[in-house]
Amino acid sequence: MISENLAAVTKRITIAAKKVNRDPGSVKLVCVTKGRTIEQIKVAASLGVSDIGENRVQEAVEKYNNLKPDTSNLKPKWHLIGHLQTNKAKDAVRIFDLIHSVDSFKLAQEIHKQAAKINKVQDVLIEVNISGEPTKFGVAPEKLMVLAKDMISLYNIKLSGLMAIAPVVENPQAARPYFVKLRELKEEINNSLLKAYSLKLMTLSMGMSQDYEVAIEEGATMVRIGTAIFEGVTK
Ligand SMILES: *Cc1c(COP(=O)(O)O)cnc(C)c1O
Repeated sequence: MISENLAAVTKRITIAAKKVNRDPGSVKLVCVTKGRTIEQIKVAASLGVSDIGENRVQEAVEKYNNLKPDTSNLKPKWHLIGHLQTNKAKDAVRIFDLIHSVDSFKLAQEIHKQAAKINKVQDVLIEVNISGEPTKFGVAPEKLMVLAKDMISLYNIKLSGLMAIAPVVENPQAARPYFVKLRELKEEINNSLLKAYSLKLMTLSMGMSQDYEVAIEEGATMVRIGTAIFEGVTK
């Protein structure tokens, strides 16, 4: 079941990329395993899933410790896609290859501090609240530039891109403007900070089970997919 679903998702990623003349290899699939069992994760990893996304540090640490011996030959990369509290930054820095959810300078400073302690340069994305919904985390678009610029001084952090969650919509096409906006924000940052600071954002983490094809059409380089892999297509 997971293998069929995964094959179907991979195929749809390829089709969506080709539709807009993109190399399907430029889109990374992050398999979202929150709420899934260790066994399910092992199956996904054995089927070639190279990137795992979790949204809670505690749950991720437990799974990481449990899975390590079994997947040590597969070495999946770990992504934190959910909100991060400063008091969990230490654990997060220890296990995650990429933190998608930096949304304040205070949090960035703490990640920097914890990463410095273990001689790590932590790869991060800034989460942008692209829809302005009060229930969503993420920095407001108008505060993004200042945050990105401030983070340049934190040497144990590497800012490599942006992440956003589109609103829940009936028709995935309705999510398109939000993906366009995130891509434009990335271009804006590169236009103003590349020359002076050599900051170049490459990653756009956007698109989930409901809307990943539209996200890819608009430039997503990472899609975060859980339901479509573990439960199949829901529509
Ligand atoms: C759960 C989650 C996903 C995956 O959502 P699905 O609809 O299951 O594909 C992606 N991104 C974030 C931030 C999530 O919390």
